[in-house]
Amino acid sequence: MNDFEVHASAGAEFPIQSLPQLEQVQLQGMLDWLSTYGADLQGGVTRLLYDQAWCKAQHALATKMQEKGLTPAFDQSGNLYGTLNGNRTGAGMGIEEAPIVTGSHIDTVVHGGKYDGAYGVVAGVLALEYLKNHFGTPKRTLQVVSLCEEEGSRFPFAYWGSRSITGASGLEEVQHLKDQAGITFAQAICNAGFGPDSGHRTASHTYGAFIELHIEQGQILERLGHSIGIVSDIVGQKRFSITVIGEANHAGTTPMAWRKDALAGAAEMITAVRSIALEAGEPLVATVGRVTAEPGVGNVVASRAVFSLDIRHIRQESIDRCWQDMLQAFSRIAAEQQLELNWEEHLSVTPIPMNEQITADIRAICEMEQLSYIHMPSGAGHDSQIFQPVCPTAMIFVPSRDGISHNPLEYTAEEDLMKGFRVLVQLLYKYGYGS
Ligand SMILES: [Zn+2]
Repeated sequence: MNDFEVHASAGAEFPIQSLPQLEQVQLQGMLDWLSTYGADLQGGVTRLLYDQAWCKAQHALATKMQEKGLTPAFDQSGNLYGTLNGNRTGAGMGIEEAPIVTGSHIDTVVHGGKYDGAYGVVAGVLALEYLKNHFGTPKRTLQVVSLCEEEGSRFPFAYWGSRSITGASGLEEVQHLKDQAGITFAQAICNAGFGPDSGHRTASHTYGAFIELHIEQGQILERLGHSIGIVSDIVGQKRFSITVIGEANHAGTTPMAWRKDALAGAAEMITAVRSIALEAGEPLVATVGRVTAEPGVGNVVASRAVFSLDIRHIRQESIDRCWQDMLQAFSRIAAEQQLELNWEEHLSVTPIPMNEQITADIRAICEMEQLSYIHMPSGAGHDSQIFQPVCPTAMIFVPSRDGISHNPLEYTAEEDLMKGFRVLVQLLYKYGYGS
């Protein structure tokens, strides 16, 4: 999308030369507060879509938004918006006047950490409060959104929050899904006080831009010693299930040369995955994370082996080429060992580039603020990939200690959290208070 141009007007000085009283912003304190909703004894957080901890957290956030001078509102899916109305609101609301939105997701994985998603939500609330207190009413409406769901941890459906907001999915697509307790999505949304009969409004589908601040969940920033990651693309991915079929036989009486050993064949294929991926080079990654063998008995040659395959890259042609190379290697190995080969594709997601204009603005802010940054792809999926087809979208990463995420040990130093916050504030100032 190239139709995104926001210039600072003569009246709005940009960049803000010094961000007054920034040190008084209680980012860590508010993250700690939010993590009490769904806290477990191991120091982790569990907030699953529409469960009790999730409901309490979303409502507490709504109250917090109100206290901080934002106008809170839920939509029918349970996404929560905190709005700081601009003084141009109401005038011929085209895309160029639609709100600039920041935020992330409120849900977690089971025993997750307190930064994933929550950081972007908390930083968005505090950024809008900060801008309002120091610079008054913006020209253009600014909004923070606490997306109801991203992880797919309760129901087998990820990005419900952003998919419902952008119109990519509707309730009819998910209402029959069941969680592990057998509760349907339709029941869960209703029990939480949302859904079409709840009286909450439908989402608007019109956004001027979406900017997501998020922890990296990887080790690149920490290892290379950078404070800010400017996301260039969100990787595309393909996932497969590969089945190798041989013949079960006696482990003592079947000579090595006469075997049709499905597991030995699969092992060679997995080795080929690694070498093909290494040869393709960064940023390609390929992973086999699961292997099963049948009959799964120590003194029987395996008749069948099934393994998973996950391939990711920022270019679709690289994913496709890598898969073709792997498939060729698998076929050759199967033929050499007289094995049968079957495969099934489970998932195919195309790579998503972030908006060039916003990305350039983030870079300019990092340079002005003298923050060390790199451009990098996101190897994990994020809500931003759902917003990108609908509005100009960008992502900002901050370092994760040891790259650990989806774990109670997830941690980002307050100093790093504040650097990301500083970038977000400058960016929202530029778009909200510029011409
Ligand atoms: Zn996340």
